[in-house]
Amino acid sequence: MKKKHQCSICSKETEKGLYLLQVFICESCEAEMIQTSTDDPKYDYFVKQMSKAHKSMIPS
Ligand SMILES: [Zn+2]
Repeated sequence: MKKKHQCSICSKETEKGLYLLQVFICESCEAEMIQTSTDDPKYDYFVKQMSKAHKSMIPS
């Protein structure tokens, strides 16, 4: 049985994806992020979701 990870952006569970700053991102979100330019409001959303997930993982 392969281990599944939950995507921090779309909450989808998948085996395919990567860890960015210890935050798991699925293949499709990764592809979307790459295609999104930094001045796109969607990019802000990705960054927010990622920092939220990152913060919840590391207690300060
Ligand atoms: Zn995703």
